[in-house]
Amino acid sequence: MTGGDLCPKCGGDSGVFDSRRRADGNIVRRRECKACEWRWSTIEIHLGQFRRVERAEAMRAQMQAMAASLVEALAAAEDTGEGGE
Ligand SMILES: [Zn+2]
Repeated sequence: MTGGDLCPKCGGDSGVFDSRRRADGNIVRRRECKACEWRWSTIEIHLGQFRRVERAEAMRAQMQAMAASLVEALAAAEDTGEGGE
């Protein structure tokens, strides 16, 4: 049984040690491999459901929120002083 994302480095099971919900509803999670202690971040994007007439505007707003979440996740990853290539 696996608890979610597998380690990108060794394929081992991982656990979440920090989870932050942003104001836009997206969730940034920081994960750590239980096997090799590699750390990385994932983002859970809340897409919601859009009515057809609102879709274009809603998608644009979601793209902006996604970009903001990505920036935050990258900053969180850099805070660990490890990870990345
Ligand atoms: Zn690992």
